[in-house]
Amino acid sequence: MLNLSHYINGQHTQSSQRQHAIYEPATGELRGHVSLASENEVSQAIDVAKEAFKTWSQVTPLNRARVLFKFKALVEQHIDELAQLITQEHGKVLEDAKGELIRGLEVVEFACGIPHLLKGEHTQQVGGGVDAWSVNQPLGVVAGIAPFNFPVMVPMWMFPIAIACGNTFIMKPSEKDPSSVLRMAELLTEAGLPDGVFNVVNGDKEAVDTLLTHADIQAVSFVGSTPIAEYIYSTASAHGKRVQALGGAKNHMLLMPDADLDQAVKALMGAAYGSAGERCMAISVVLAVGDSGDKLIDALLPQINQLKIGNGLTPDMDMGPLVSAQHLQKVRDFVDAGVTEGATLVADGRTLSLKDQQQGYFLGACLFDHVTPEMSIYQQEIFGPVLSIVRVKDYAEALELINKHEFGNGTAIFTQNGEAARHFCHHVEVGMVGVNVPIPVPMAFHSFGGWKRSLFGPLHMHGPDGVRFYTKRKAITARWPKGTSTESAFIMPTMK
Ligand code: NAD
Repeated sequence: MLNLSHYINGQHTQSSQRQHAIYEPATGELRGHVSLASENEVSQAIDVAKEAFKTWSQVTPLNRARVLFKFKALVEQHIDELAQLITQEHGKVLEDAKGELIRGLEVVEFACGIPHLLKGEHTQQVGGGVDAWSVNQPLGVVAGIAPFNFPVMVPMWMFPIAIACGNTFIMKPSEKDPSSVLRMAELLTEAGLPDGVFNVVNGDKEAVDTLLTHADIQAVSFVGSTPIAEYIYSTASAHGKRVQALGGAKNHMLLMPDADLDQAVKALMGAAYGSAGERCMAISVVLAVGDSGDKLIDALLPQINQLKIGNGLTPDMDMGPLVSAQHLQKVRDFVDAGVTEGATLVADGRTLSLKDQQQGYFLGACLFDHVTPEMSIYQQEIFGPVLSIVRVKDYAEALELINKHEFGNGTAIFTQNGEAARHFCHHVEVGMVGVNVPIPVPMAFHSFGGWKRSLFGPLHMHGPDGVRFYTKRKAITARWPKGTSTESAFIMPTMK
């Protein structure tokens, strides 16, 4: 049985606090427990990180990057072990877990370029004998709060850049799947990261609230559901912190009648049902323009019937279970609601029966047709293997629906018409847009973030925005007078 606690100051700490049970979603078996930190325990971790900041912020960017180079090599060396931990606690299939690790490592690779990324700007001779320049300095102790669905990738959107910039970090993983982040903390220590620079506190609302309100936390990065993201943003901002809080999604694919249907269907299968739909960039709605809906359903159904569903540790599975019994029930309730509200359930994943996985949290792929914007399955994020098709008469109606939706995380247009694609990219009110690309997740050297109620705060995650978020800019104006001192000036200084 696992008995997980926190990782503070370079070592695992024991805790006698409240505990949360961790289950293996594929079998429903209890894996063990994780401690839920008290306010006092979180404060102790913050004190440790504050102390570590004094020296870590003075380490040269090049030497900070060298630790990350070693960390990258260690993660690659342990990729099978880390992927297994993800699959055992999250449920996603092993290859998908490795994919998540690789996307996370790309942010580490980006952060390894920190000596270049931290360079400021310099102007010589802004006035007679006066030079001006700017530098980017770390903030201090910063915190990250992660969701269950990407237990390593989302933390890796945050901490590599934060610590490369010279900050120290407190990570609060999801209580549902904390093992992989704890293992990464060990690997950071093995890579040579000084104790106290990266700390993990496990916990729930009590731990999170301490991070949001503590005077020594300078910035909070959050990824999770929209109601919590909004709470994090308003609470931490009210306590004077910098915040980026990424929330939920309802990502639409706009399918034009001229799209390459074979390409669109292949893309859609992975985008809707990969990771059992538990992705913030999953496609959960198709807006089928004109007569494209019938052809789409004819092409999708055989593929849905061939999906290989089972324990993610078994090779060649397409889809694993949902994360928990409660989440499974929530998704099933949405499917029931869709039927009651009058949508046509053309593939009913509720009938799935896996002989050897009776206790796992499995749901087969569900496909709804004739979904309308008034239905709850259209309006709300389901976060499961449930795809809705909405029939629309033309492109304009589809664009209007996307732009009216509460969420604006990701979207994609499938078409062979360059003009329509260009118009879509320009006018759609969504933060991440794909053209014949179903899940347009920006690469590590760009920034990731949605619009509307999918993100609270001005800066996106990783890439250039990540460096901006984790640094504060200082502008220096300097004169070295030769012998004489300058006169006092009582008017706004202008350079001569
Ligand atoms: P969640 O909001 O339930 O939990 C996220 C984190 O917040 C966890 O660490 C949790 O412990 C903490 N938390 C939960 N309730 C809290 C409370 N009342 N007070 C303080 N902290 C609290 O989200 P989840 O179920 O773990 O993850 C799924 C959600 O995350 C989905 O909505 C998904 O769209 C979203 N998500 C968004 C992105 C994105 O980039 N926009 C990426 C991944 C996941």
